[in-house]
Amino acid sequence: MDIVFHCPQCRQELEADSGASGEQISCPSCNATITIPTSDPSTARPVASPSGPPSPAPQSPPGERTFAVPITKEPVQPLIQRPLPPLEAAARDTARKMRIKTIRHSDCREVGHDHFDTTVTEALNKIGEENIINISTLNYSYIEMGTQKLVTDYGVMIVYRG
Ligand SMILES: [Zn+2]
Repeated sequence: MDIVFHCPQCRQELEADSGASGEQISCPSCNATITIPTSDPSTARPVASPSGPPSPAPQSPPGERTFAVPITKEPVQPLIQRPLPPLEAAARDTARKMRIKTIRHSDCREVGHDHFDTTVTEALNKIGEENIINISTLNYSYIEMGTQKLVTDYGVMIVYRG
C-alpha cells in the first residue's frame, strides 16, 4: 500500500511505499529533507479539490512529527559592530556627517603637469587629520578621450567626518 503525503515545504504531493515509513528522502520538487510518515488515513487522503483554491495546510495529528522550518525571530545582527565612542566624541560627532572625497589621478593631470599629490595634500589639510576616518586607494579604468584606449589609473578615497 502506498502512502500519499505532502512535502511540508512546497506541498508537492508525494507517494511512497508503506514499507518506507520513517525513511528520510529529498523532496523531488524543492529538495527539502522529508521523513516519510507512517500510513495514516488522515495524511493519506488525496487533495480535495485540485482545481479549487489552495486548501489550508492540514493540521498535524498529535504525535506526528512536524516539519516546520524554524524561523528565527531575532533581528539580523550587523556583521561588524563598532565599539561605542566615548560620550564626548559621540556628542561632537552627532553634528557631523560621514562623507567621502574621491580624487582620481586622471582628474588632476594637465598637459605636462601632475597635480595629484598637491590636490590630495590640500584635501587632507582642509579636512583635518582628526576628522579623517580612513583613506584607501582605488584603481579604475576609463577610455582616454584622445587615444580611445582603455587606461587603468589610480586614485584615493578619503572617508571623513565633516
Ligand atoms: Zn518540496
